[in-house]
Amino acid sequence: MISLLQIAPTLAEYFNIMLASPARPVEAILRFARHSNPAIVTLLVLDSLDFRFYSDFAAELRTIHELVEQEGLLFECETVSSHTTPAIGSILTGLEPEAHGIFTDNDVGKSEIKSILEILEDTGKKTAMVIETKGVKPLVGRITYVCGVDDREDIIRYDELIKTHTIAVLNKKDIKMVFAHIRAIDRFAHRGKDLSVAAKLTDGNIREIANTVRERNGLLLICGDHETHLKAVKRTRTVPLIVCCP
Ligand SMILES: [Zn+2]
Repeated sequence: MISLLQIAPTLAEYFNIMLASPARPVEAILRFARHSNPAIVTLLVLDSLDFRFYSDFAAELRTIHELVEQEGLLFECETVSSHTTPAIGSILTGLEPEAHGIFTDNDVGKSEIKSILEILEDTGKKTAMVIETKGVKPLVGRITYVCGVDDREDIIRYDELIKTHTIAVLNKKDIKMVFAHIRAIDRFAHRGKDLSVAAKLTDGNIREIANTVRERNGLLLICGDHETHLKAVKRTRTVPLIVCCP
């Protein structure tokens, strides 16, 4: 089984940039990326999408399953943390949370470790991040397009704004990599709300983003960050990673 730590080293190898990580690139993804030769790479993290959720809500997550069925790749990945911020830190750096030191919102931007987006920027490649406003400030000036969305109780509206910004940056000229973080599944799980509704909404947002990725001749990676936070249900600590050219 591969791990979430391998995403950043794989993309670094694909872009031919230096990223210090003990994790190894995933050869199958590299072959897929090189074969498809995308104009742009998009990485979407779906908060709380674990492997079991991906299977249990296959009907609601139709678009994502179809992306796999249409010559995409699917991996089951080991997670590195049960919390969002350290997990995303690991996805973007290829390092364990103890090594990158980003555990809370307050740590974002204080770490000496650069994310794959910042390393790409250092080599003159434009990137974009579409995330919650709280995490945006330290990235301004380090990443070409930093789009913040304010946290709010209406998580449906929140994800809609993330989707809109993601589509907008995908249409920017010369952009090489886009990262975005979608949150409805996690919020619905924490609030004890109907998860099939969250899955359907998420799938709809993915469909629109995937359509834009297709128009841009892009590569799309979709993964979860940690197990779904559900009381009373023991979850395995694995998440799906989907790699496709929509
Ligand atoms: Zn999370």
